[in-house]
This record gives sequence, C-alpha cells and structure tokens, in this order.
Amino acid sequence: MLKALEIALFGIGILSAGFFLWAAYVSKNENEPFAFRKFINLGLLVFFLSFLIAMSHNILLISIVLAILLSLIIIGLLLLLPFEKKHNYKLAVPSSQIDERDTMFSRRELKGGTEVYEKYYSANKEFQKPDDEFRVLPGLLNPKSSQYNPIHFASAAASFQAVEVFYNEAEVEVKAETKLEVEAEEVSKYIKSWAKKLGAIDCGITLLKDYHVYSYGGRRERRDKQYQAKHKFGIAFTVEMDKAMVDAAPKASIVMESAQQYLESGKIAIQLANFIRNLGYEARAHIDGNYEVVCPLVARDAGLGEIGRMGLLMTPMKGPRVRIGVVTTNIPLVVDEPKPQFSVIDFCTICKKCAESCPSNAISFNDMEEIDGVKRWKINQEACFTLWCKLGTDCGRCVSVCPYSHEDNVLHNIVRKGIKNNYIFRRLALKMDDIIYGRQPVSKEIPENLEI
Ligand code: SF4
Ligand code: SF4
Repeated sequence: MLKALEIALFGIGILSAGFFLWAAYVSKNENEPFAFRKFINLGLLVFFLSFLIAMSHNILLISIVLAILLSLIIIGLLLLLPFEKKHNYKLAVPSSQIDERDTMFSRRELKGGTEVYEKYYSANKEFQKPDDEFRVLPGLLNPKSSQYNPIHFASAAASFQAVEVFYNEAEVEVKAETKLEVEAEEVSKYIKSWAKKLGAIDCGITLLKDYHVYSYGGRRERRDKQYQAKHKFGIAFTVEMDKAMVDAAPKASIVMESAQQYLESGKIAIQLANFIRNLGYEARAHIDGNYEVVCPLVARDAGLGEIGRMGLLMTPMKGPRVRIGVVTTNIPLVVDEPKPQFSVIDFCTICKKCAESCPSNAISFNDMEEIDGVKRWKINQEACFTLWCKLGTDCGRCVSVCPYSHEDNVLHNIVRKGIKNNYIFRRLALKMDDIIYGRQPVSKEIPENLEI
C-alpha cells in the first residue's frame, strides 16, 4: 500500500513538474524571461517536494499530500467548465453618432489663428486648453520626441505614407457596367475566406446602423461633411499586431507595428472594396486616416469581439492586439450575430492592469459608467494623446500588458477558455497572471533583428 502511494505521489509530482516545465518552455519562446523563471522554479519545487515526501515513507503525510494534489487537479479541471454568475449584460447601443471632429486626430489638424480653429473652439471651449497644451509638444514621429529613433521613425512614416497611397482608392465609382447576380450566403462566405487568405485573422458582417457612422467627418477634405449610413452592410476584419513589437511599447516598435498593420488592414480593405465594385456593387474601404465609420463598434456588432476597459475591441484570441479594417457595401450579404461577452466585461471590471500601467492615467479604474446614455468605459483621450505627443509613438503600454494580449497558443488558450467559461476561474487567472507576468509588466527591448 505504502509503495503504491509513493509511486502515485511521485508520478503526479512528475506530471505537475512536467506541466510547469512545458509552460516555462512556452514562456522562453514567447520571450517572457520573468514567466520563464517562475515556471522553472514552480516545476523544480513540485518535483523535489513530491520526491522528498514520497521518500519520507510516512503513509499519513503521503496520503494527505496526494489528496491535496489530486483535489487541486480536479478543481483546476472543474474550473474550466461553464459557471457564470447571474447578470443582465447586453450590448450597449449608442443613442447618437460620434462626431469625428471631436477625436484627437481631427483636433490635431486645427491650426491656431485659422477660421476653422476659431469656429471649433468657440463651440467647444473645454477642449481648447488641453489641445493647446499638446500642440506645443513635439508630436508623433517628431525628432524632438523622447522615443525618437531616426531609422524606426522613418520606417513607421514609410508605412503611413503607403497607407496614404490608398486614399484615392477608398471611395470610387463602381467599375462594372452590370451587377453580377450573387447569393448572399455564398458571397459572404467567400469574402470572409478571402479576407483571411489576404491576412485577416477574423472577419464578420453586420447591418450598418447610423451609430456606426460618424455624424460629421473631421479630417482633411472630409471635415464638416455630414454622414449617415449610406450602405446596408459593414464588413469588419482584424489583423494581428506582432507581440514582440507591441511588448517593447512605448518604444518606436509600437508605432512601426501600428503603422504596418494599418497598412495591412488598409490593403485588405481596398482589395475587398475593389472586388465588390468589380461585381457591380457599391463599396467603400475605411482605412487609417480615412474613416467614415467607428471601426470598433462595427467590428463588435459583426461578432468580432467586445469593447473593454481601454475602449478597444477585445478579440477572443488576441485581445486588443489587433487593428481593424472595415468595408461598407450594398452587395447582398448575410449578417453575423453580435456576441456580447459578459466574461470580458467581468474580467475588465476586476483586472484594471491597463489602468495601472497607463503612464498618463488615461484609463479609468471605476466600474462602467453611464456615458451619453450607454454603460461603458471611456478613456481620457486628451491625456492619452498628450503623452503620444511627448513620446513620438502611440504608446501602447495598455495593449502590451493586457492579459488577453498573450500569444495565441495552447497554454494561453486553455486559460482563455477558463476565463470565458467560469466566473471563479477568471479571478484565479488574474491572480496567476499577476504572479507569472507581474502586475505592471515592464517594457521589453525592441526585437534584436530591428535594433540599430
Ligand atoms: S488590461 Fe485588464 S482591464 Fe485592461 S482591457 Fe485588458 S483585461 Fe481589461
Ligand atoms: S496608449 Fe498609453 S497613454 Fe494611451 S491609454 Fe494606453 S497606456 Fe494609456
């Protein structure tokens, strides 16, 4: 009997240690040295403790430790099963359209002393002081900013310049003379598959509502143009941002990666829009700097994710570590159901890791609040953008530290499953994330092959 218990304890010890060593290996490949050390220590601790206790030949001690280990394993497995607290969470539907002129990128375009500047700030006096404060700072990709690196900033600028090449292709007339008769189901399936073939990680379709569309354009020649949903459908898709580039945020790699993924999503949007026009139907590509729609809302309603504490789309497998592209169109399509994710809202309510890591305190620590008739979180966009103007990059610390941003692999997907399914697992996973990755993970170095 004693022999059997010793073997069982030693076997479970080896299995548990094996799990931690595998997790350490995964962490090493993810360039997570902090997590690597933690998993190695845990693995060795479990191995030696189970070995020492098994060798003690004390039947009572061995039985107790075995019972504890088995209970922990069973509880761990049970916590992956669905268990949710009662809630009445529904997707928040905005009651009005967002005015693009109020966004920071539109406000950045206003030059002191011009008629448009005077007009805007006489109607929005509360914005003038904070905006004049960021105007005297160096600004994005500026040589005087704190994260300046001539090579990396030139690379990011090159990606943004390539996006601008697409501007004239975003909204053009239908090219085909006749409309090809299409089956909504087939063409929807085709568009999703092709978007993924072109580099998207997910793609969904929603009915376009007025609240998806800016009330007024705010940038360049679109300023003061009034908008309403002129197409019936919105096709939204996401592209992944490279984890290593994001993890070095707020260093220059973050703005390089943002710019590059704006380019990738812009390219896919232009291809999809041209494809649809070639079939004889209207389509508009919405790309960086040239949006008529609020991309996170379109993507959320197309079933691609949920909006979290930092106001970004939280996708199931990459969290906020994505960029979004949208095409609006009148081609017949089949829409996807939005997928309200209480688990994301619940996790964001307890997590607050982004808020703690935000260098400008732009992210709220509070629970969701009623803002313009909708319960949600709202970031302080002035504080966030003012920091960008000092850094010269788009910061991105919040995206980097978010537990949902971990790599899409077996280890993290087991945790994602538990977080999605189980109210208790969520609380446990947050504690584990804090222990393994740190409550405020530090910024990593720019990937070696890009160092200069
Ligand atoms: S860091 Fe935490 S609170 Fe912030 S968005 Fe991610 S999960 Fe939500
Ligand atoms: S980008 Fe930076 S400043 Fe802006 S909310 Fe995220 S962490 Fe805060």
